[in-house]
Amino acid sequence: MGLADALRARIERDGPLRLDDWMAACNAHYYATRDPLGADFTTAPEISQMFGELVGAWVADLWDRAGRVPFRLIELGPGRGTLMADALRVLGRAGVKPEVALVETSPVLRAAQAERVQGAAWFDTLDAVPDDLPMMLIANEFFDALPVRQVAEREVAVAVEGQGFAAATIAADIVRSGEFSLASEVIVARIAARLHITGGAALIIDYGHDGGATDTLQAVRDGQRVSPFTDPGEADLTAHVDFAALANAAGSVRVSGPVPQGVWLTRLGIEARAAALKARASTPQAAAIEAALVRLTAPQQMGALFRVMALTSHGWPEPAGFAA
Ligand code: SAH
Repeated sequence: MGLADALRARIERDGPLRLDDWMAACNAHYYATRDPLGADFTTAPEISQMFGELVGAWVADLWDRAGRVPFRLIELGPGRGTLMADALRVLGRAGVKPEVALVETSPVLRAAQAERVQGAAWFDTLDAVPDDLPMMLIANEFFDALPVRQVAEREVAVAVEGQGFAAATIAADIVRSGEFSLASEVIVARIAARLHITGGAALIIDYGHDGGATDTLQAVRDGQRVSPFTDPGEADLTAHVDFAALANAAGSVRVSGPVPQGVWLTRLGIEARAAALKARASTPQAAAIEAALVRLTAPQQMGALFRVMALTSHGWPEPAGFAA
């Protein structure tokens, strides 16, 4: 039975399906059955090696100032493994060889990651990763894929309509309103709990806002916006990340930012990195490097919508890129 038939049977049996359950079911199928990067959407590490390299430099700097302790580098939702490969290359040059743990549920993307990252261990959830070492955790465009709920007076759900599906509402069983992602808040709370146990830092990069949104859900298929309620599991469902809610879920660990991605990358030296790459590139390559720099940092492109937030445990130094 296909996903649409399974969801139809479930809704006919149990009534309209809450939006977060719909989104979780659709995205699990979507990511399990394809590598969407470059087809439905692209991400910063796929745009340029500079992105993963600067993340690697950020990790190396923090590790150095934290006293050069052995640590585990964890990535949530590593996509094709490009960011991790670029970061590990920079870390290796600095003489840093962390344990690498990749948290990924999609078998297709695990295979893509294995082609680019040697010696990693894979896990289905963060909780399954051992907590015997300090951690540095990276999550780029991970939280936007996690399920959201939308509650006003009533709560958004998905009903069967004719041969397809359509938005409906049900009585809400939670005293909270707006759009929110309990799944994301739980993961941030688990990250913070691990930081208290092992020490370390987490870097969260995503497109988002500072709270108060009511509907940022979107579906993209073949690069086009489509309805989130047609062809379940065939489009990428995302919502903008509520950074205020994530900071709140982090409890008492130090929260740095969020700052705009363009600001953060500039503070970490992306312009110098671009200049160094351009100096040994052909003319067309140099133009491509310049275009990637603009795309990652310009406010009208990814520079302002995307934000960067860090969590650090007590006793760890301030992470780079957050103070003016
Ligand atoms: N970070 C990558 C890919 C972003 S796409 C990049 O920047 O290019 C989202 C990633 O999160 C994919 O690897 C997807 O398979 C993974 N993912 C989505 N939901 C997940 C979940 N619930 N648990 C683990 N991984 C998940």
